[in-house]
Amino acid sequence: MLDWNPGPPSTAAGPCCGSEGPHSLVVSVANPWAPGETLHFYKCADCHSLIVPDGAFHDYSDAEPAQVSWRHYVQLGAGIDVMVNPAERARAPNASRLLDVGCGFGFTLDYWQHAVRGEAVGVEPSAFGRLGAKMLGVNLHVALLADVPSLQARQFDVVLSSEVIEHVPDPAAFVRELQRHLAPGGTLVLTTPNAGFVTQDVPLGLVLATLSPGLHKLLLSRAALERLLGKAGFAHVRVDDAGQQLVAWASDEPLSLQDDPAALRSSYISYLSRRWTDPSTGLDLRLGFGYRLFKELVNGGRLDEAVPVAAGLQALIQEHYKFDFTDRAAVLGAVLPTAQLDDYMAAAPFPLGPILFFRAIAAAQGALPGEDAAAGFALAHEVLAQSIHVRPDHFQEAAALAWAALLEQAGVLLRAGQAGAAASCLARIAAAETAPPAGCPTRVPADVAQRALALADEVKLALTPPVSPAIPQSPKQRPRGFSALWQHLRASKENQRT
Ligand SMILES: [Zn+2]
Repeated sequence: MLDWNPGPPSTAAGPCCGSEGPHSLVVSVANPWAPGETLHFYKCADCHSLIVPDGAFHDYSDAEPAQVSWRHYVQLGAGIDVMVNPAERARAPNASRLLDVGCGFGFTLDYWQHAVRGEAVGVEPSAFGRLGAKMLGVNLHVALLADVPSLQARQFDVVLSSEVIEHVPDPAAFVRELQRHLAPGGTLVLTTPNAGFVTQDVPLGLVLATLSPGLHKLLLSRAALERLLGKAGFAHVRVDDAGQQLVAWASDEPLSLQDDPAALRSSYISYLSRRWTDPSTGLDLRLGFGYRLFKELVNGGRLDEAVPVAAGLQALIQEHYKFDFTDRAAVLGAVLPTAQLDDYMAAAPFPLGPILFFRAIAAAQGALPGEDAAAGFALAHEVLAQSIHVRPDHFQEAAALAWAALLEQAGVLLRAGQAGAAASCLARIAAAETAPPAGCPTRVPADVAQRALALADEVKLALTPPVSPAIPQSPKQRPRGFSALWQHLRASKENQRT
């Protein structure tokens, strides 16, 4: 699907800096929007951005999004914390007017309204924007910025444009247009895919998402984005390399960004909490806010607050999906017969597996008296595996948690003195790590494999019979199953190093 072979260079001037090269070919990929066409990404000889000199580009979609797409996005897929972070960091006291250009569904506007309690205006030409405006009740114009007369003379303290500049034909003109809407001393916030992230070492899915062939006209390098903002006349510019993404802030005044992760987290949690308890929030949004809030509270160790949210989710799921998620047979009865994403959507909420996972985490910490944490992790694994089976590309979060659930189950079992059962869980991780089962869409994440190996060490100690000085033991007397597991894990750890 991706062709990394070198080819003839290009001398076409890129939209990044105008250099005529010669630009070397980095990667070629089929254009999913124009069957039969191949798109070639070249590295600009001057600024190292990735440019696509020839290609048919698809702008934005006017088509109504499919129900599975938007319901999945709202309930589970949208990374709201990542989305709101760059604008929230740029917010200054008494400077609370936000313009979000290309705001998508509008979660950042919603956050700004509820957490910042400031004015938030968005523009978004796609049907997805129309849907978000209706569901969230935010101030969102379904149009391009230039086509909204009421905004032409308006200025804002923060002007945000997230994942848009890579779609426009003239990035410098786009920055100038955004700049016109900045109040004196205001901050422009941009995010865009990072050209520097695209290498052969990065997993295929991530490279494709970053390139978005047929959609992205240009992937800026960090240096090119800094230069672009400097040339636009901003006195203060900061561009962070966040891996797959570049995040930029630019202002005429010195930048003072909120850099305290705890403060940002706490603001995000109060937003989720406010939205979760708002009785006017519809089912899909409530499930999404409730799940995200529950996860944040469990991860933050705020278990007293997490428990009532889990109870609320349990009641919501009982009411709308007619099963009790604390009843193993009922959960599997709902989820296992589903073969298609549509069936799954009708049978269960998209975040069911993740909710069960974080519920088991809470149980393992004693927050849910009488709950068997090991059984909770086992059920979470089954539900997560089923959701991945139904539609692997829709459940990235589930893919990471499915293996983590087995690992956590092993940890709970080991602490309960069941080292043999813990070894079986680790053996399943080891088997999937070294030889993924047929049809298994996801690899064990590297951090889970590493932690499994560390835990295997403890399991090994627990399984080794105490050495009696009278009868020297030979290694052969150790349990055979576990020895095989250990070698598996050791080998896979060494494979990862090379
Ligand atoms: Zn360039």
